[in-house]
This record gives sequence, structure tokens and C-alpha cells, in this order.
Amino acid sequence: MKALDELTFDNRFARLGDAFSTHVLPEPLDAPRLVVASDAAMALLDLDPAVAETPVFAELFGGHKLWAEAETRAMVYSGHQFGGYTPQLGDGRGLLLGEVYNQAGEHWDLHLKGAGMTPYSRMGDGRAVLRSSIREFLASEALHALGIPSSRALCVIGSDTPVWREKQERGAMVLRLAHSHIRFGHFEYFYYTKKPEQQAELAEHVLNLHYPECREQPEPYLAMFREIVERNAEMIAKWQAYGFCHGVMNTDNMSILGITFDFGPFAFLDDFDAHFICNHSDHEGRYSFSNQVPIGQWNLSALAQALTPFISVDALKEALGLYLPLYQAHYLDLMRRRLGLTTAEDDDQPLVERLLKLMQNSGVDYTLFFRRLGDESAALAVARLRDDFVDLAGFDAWAEQYKARVARDGDYSEEQRRERMHAVNPLYILRNYLAQNAIAAAESGDNSEVRRLHEVLSKPFEEQAGMEQYAQRPPDWGKHLEISCSS
Ligand code: AMP
Ligand code: MG
Repeated sequence: MKALDELTFDNRFARLGDAFSTHVLPEPLDAPRLVVASDAAMALLDLDPAVAETPVFAELFGGHKLWAEAETRAMVYSGHQFGGYTPQLGDGRGLLLGEVYNQAGEHWDLHLKGAGMTPYSRMGDGRAVLRSSIREFLASEALHALGIPSSRALCVIGSDTPVWREKQERGAMVLRLAHSHIRFGHFEYFYYTKKPEQQAELAEHVLNLHYPECREQPEPYLAMFREIVERNAEMIAKWQAYGFCHGVMNTDNMSILGITFDFGPFAFLDDFDAHFICNHSDHEGRYSFSNQVPIGQWNLSALAQALTPFISVDALKEALGLYLPLYQAHYLDLMRRRLGLTTAEDDDQPLVERLLKLMQNSGVDYTLFFRRLGDESAALAVARLRDDFVDLAGFDAWAEQYKARVARDGDYSEEQRRERMHAVNPLYILRNYLAQNAIAAAESGDNSEVRRLHEVLSKPFEEQAGMEQYAQRPPDWGKHLEISCSS
């Protein structure tokens, strides 16, 4: 275990120099105080969780203090936003404080979001409000606990700093951890500004630090792009299997590591709805739940375009062609497991599709359906779940097929079935209304609800005594919350 002043820095991105980022100091928050910290994330830095409660912790992550070895940098990037190219974006309110490596030799970027104005702030104030910081914190840690690759969050620091959105709110900072903060948009920036030398330097940096195994391949850059395609296909398969809607899949929000990144108006599905749009500014549904799959490919094509100086167009096209089949394979594998199946049959895909259609038409809770399906034998479970469906004949037909499929799958006890299914079907997910309740309490100075929700979500597959209220469908007021994009 380390004390706060014992972190070991090695600021590799900062060393790339001023073409890639600008040195900026954080603007401190007034009266910084800890809202919540993640013990699991603290462990990634070998930090003793108790240090989160010390005043110096809030000073460090509230922008008041810096380690001598920190080199605070705002990164430059660009990106395609809602399909259109924006020539210059960048860390408008976030700073890379530095890169730390832990005792296991893993590097972690420390990125402070809400740290004040930078040369890339455009019209913004450089700040983040408490509610959006809490949402990012809860989501990063909850996704990780579900087994979905994501950036992590160390803590949220609250303050008295006034920040103006639709109304006056309070500023906060969230400390994000990731092995890299490089986005698709970093490559697009150097490609469209026609800076081939820096672009090559960036590509070398990513290859050496994050895809070293690709060095051994005959075409290292191509191997790296293929790996990025594969990771994205797997990440998006997990989003779809668990009902996560990102909301702003702009290429500047897509990580080069294939992790879920930059949380805005995201949501987990309550009722299953393939057409669900969680971002209220997304009038055309570009980033609707089911569109996330083709958008994943669209974003990878935008990255491929930026890589044309290094890789032939034919090779890029071939690599892009891997995306959909890989996505489908990962998705089907997960959905089979969610249904409790251990073998594969050709008709599993239509079995899943028919179930989702029935759930869609009846507004069935996506998470609880799968959890309850594993509570008992297939026959007993479908008999109990039947009441949730409007089209009873349709559900009965599906249930007969499902029971027959389960019978062919293998001979295992109810106990084995429950154990296997509960290990992939969470009981607790970050429902918008739960986040909303925790935020309302935190805004009035009570952080206990954020902390409890974080705890519950850190073990989503384990039934936790006294936590039944976190495993319920939303009340009516919580079903279609409008989450503001002004974060
Ligand atoms: P986002 O939609 O959060 O991914 O942000 C898109 C771009 O706007 C990024 O370059 C952000 O850094 C920038 N940005 C978002 N909010 C603010 C803000 N309050 N102040 C300055 N820049 C911001
Ligand atoms: Mg962003």
C-alpha cells in the first residue's frame, strides 16, 4: 500500500511534446470535499483506501495541489460529431495529470475532468457539474463490475464553486483512470491537419505502449487496427447484451483501447426497447440502442480513413469486414449464456430475436427478466414470467421452444443452472432513476446514497441483503427521465 505522495510517475504522453498537448494548470474548486471514492480503483494505484478521507486527497483531486512529478496537459484531438467532422476539439475541461505505474508495472493515466479552461474549451467554462461527475463515476465502476471494458473512476470531489447550466449548480471533478486517453479523434486530428510526422509519432506511441504484440506481425499497424476492430466489436456486443446505451458515440469519444469512454447522457435499458434514444439532443436517433452496432463500424471506418497514410485501403477494408461477424459471435455467445445455454445451435439467434421482440412489445424489464429466468428450472421460470407478457400465445410458443432447447442443452440441476445464470445476469444495474436519487441526495449534501449505490453496483451479480430496493423496476416518475446533455 502506498501513501499519496508515493505514486510513481512516468509521463509518456506529455513527452510527445507541444504538438500533442498543452501545459495547463488546474483551476482549483472552492472548498473541495470528497463525495465518493472507489476502493477498487484506489487499489489499481496501490493506494490505501483510507487516504481518500484525508484533506490532502480532496486538495489533490480538487485542483489545489499537484505532485512535483505531475505534468498537467490538455490533449488536442478532433472528431466526427453526429456524423459531421469538427476540425478541432480537445480536452476542453479535462487535464491529464500524469501517468502513474503501480507495483504490478501497469500504467494508469490520471485524468481530472472538470479542471477548468484550456485552449480547447471553445465556448465552454471548463467545468463539470456534480450530477454529471457522479454519473460518470457510477457508470465507469458499474460497467467494469459487469465485465464491460471501461475507463475507471477513482473519486468525485464536490465543491462550492458555482457553475451555470440551465440553472446554477455546483462544480465537481471526477478523476478518471485509463491505460490511455487517446481517442480515434487523435488520429483524425493529425490526418486532417496534414501533419504526417506527428501522426506517425502518435501511431508509434500507441503501437509501442498499447499494442506491443503487434510489433511481431508482418504489418504492425494493420495488426493494431485489426485488434482495435476486434476490441470494439467485443465491447459493443457487451453493451448490447447488457442493455447499455452510450448516447454520444462521436469518434472523439471512442477510445483507441476499445473501452467505454466519455460518459454523457448514457442509460441502461429498463424496459427492453431496441429503438431507445437516451440522448435528448439526438433527434434522429443516430445513437439509438440498436444503432450502436452499425455506428461502431462507422466510427472504425472514420479511424481507418485516418490510417490510410500507413495501411493500404484494401487491407483496411478487409479488417473492417471483421467487425460485424465478430460482433455477432460475441453477442450471441453472451446471449446464449444469459439464457443459460452451454452449447451452440444454429437456431439460437432467432430464439434470441423472438424473445427480444416479445419483450419489446410488452415493455418487459430487460435485466430482471434474465435474472428471474435463472431463479428456477426453465419450466417453472417461464410459467412465472408469462404474466409479464401481453402476447401470451407468442410467449407460450417461445417458451416451448426455449424449454426444448434447454432440454437438449444438457442435464444439470436447478442449482447448477441458477449458479451459472446468476453469474452472467446481474440483479443490480445503474438505472437512471437510481442515479437520480443518489444525485438529489448528494446535491443536498448527503453523499451516503451515492456511496451505497456504488457499493451495490460493485457486486452486480451477488444478491445483497437489505438491498432489494436497488433491484426493482423504476417507479413511474423514473421511467423516462430526461437527462440533460449539459454536463
Ligand atoms: P463531450 O460532448 O463531453 O464529449 O465534449 C465534446 C467537446 O466539448 C470536448 O472537446 C470537450 O472537452 C468539450 N467540452 C464539453 N463540455 C465542456 C465545458 N463545460 N467546457 C469546456 N469544454 C467542454
Ligand atoms: Mg468527449
